[in-house]
Amino acid sequence: MKRARAEVLNARRFGVYHSITVVAPEVAQRARPGQFVSIGMPQGRSFIFRRQFSIHEASRRGGWAGTLEFVFDRHGPGTSWLAGVRVHEFLDVIGPLGTAFAYPAKLNACLLVSEGHASAPMYFLAQELRARGKRVDMIVGAETHEHVFKPIEGKRLSQTFSIVTADGSLGERGSVLDALPGMLETTGAEVVYAAAPRPTLRAIAEMCLEREIPSQIAIEDEMPCGTGLCYTCAIPVIRKDGGGYDNLRACAEGPVFNPARILWDRWIGDAPGSAPTPPEGYAKVRTWPG
Ligand SMILES: Cc1cc2nc3c(=O)[nH]c(=O)nc-3n(C[C@H](O)[C@H](O)[C@H](O)COP(=O)(O)OP(=O)(O)OC[C@H]3O[C@@H](n4cnc5c(N)ncnc54)[C@H](O)[C@@H]3O)c2cc1C
Repeated sequence: MKRARAEVLNARRFGVYHSITVVAPEVAQRARPGQFVSIGMPQGRSFIFRRQFSIHEASRRGGWAGTLEFVFDRHGPGTSWLAGVRVHEFLDVIGPLGTAFAYPAKLNACLLVSEGHASAPMYFLAQELRARGKRVDMIVGAETHEHVFKPIEGKRLSQTFSIVTADGSLGERGSVLDALPGMLETTGAEVVYAAAPRPTLRAIAEMCLEREIPSQIAIEDEMPCGTGLCYTCAIPVIRKDGGGYDNLRACAEGPVFNPARILWDRWIGDAPGSAPTPPEGYAKVRTWPG
């Protein structure tokens, strides 16, 4: 991990999203899809913590070498402040942080599923999978057409690009969960990667588990420190030998996890105190294919 005082090379908008590209060669050089950066905030009570953003793009070669891009929509004080950042200003960037998506060695057909701003790492992942000769298909979901994340870029990167919006203003009406069963069939997906809000991730994990399709998810938990110090973002994850579980930090041991190993009921379920039991079928897909 590196800390950089990074100059803003580009700051622009598309739809409801803001994109910032910074010059941070040492971070960009090491960045892999699924990892994130932690951005320092100005001083003030609203800004006690740094803010974390997935790496959307990292250029290691060519004219843009040494740059990395992150994309966000406005939520609260942090993202509102970032939305006002201009070219040639400097940001305090720490990264790359967390674990990256793993690439399957033998399986070929990869289906990437994401919703809203959680789509940010998927385009970087699609590029890297394609560079390894994998087939890439994508489902991108959003509230409205304005929240659909880079549809033209998505079409360029994938064999099939399925858009779903909650209000039907672009693509099919519905959620990524409506589109997923059909896309699993038609694309012959052998591996699923997902990034979305927690309930959607859980449903995707269950669909994959039923079909014995290995999957990986990138989660966004509240991360005050982002560097593994505060243990606030702990997630109950079943041990590799299947016996018991560990509370793993989403920022350090994640944000990418095998969802078949997450104790969803304990993490986000209605009964957080209930005794942890490995999910049905866990044994069959607990290992990511080498
Ligand atoms: C790994 C990761 C990747 C992400 N990638 C993206 C991305 O690509 N694009 C994007 O738009 N967003 C992304 N996010 C979400 C983004 O970090 C938040 O939207 C952002 O922090 C919001 O800041 P804010 O001040 O605008 O909003 P607020 O919602 O006001 O957040 C205020 C800050 O307080 C923290 N906070 C709030 N409640 C608690 C609590 N109970 N305990 C500790 N801390 C708390 C929040 O984490 C946040 O840092 C990502 C988050 C993570 C963890």
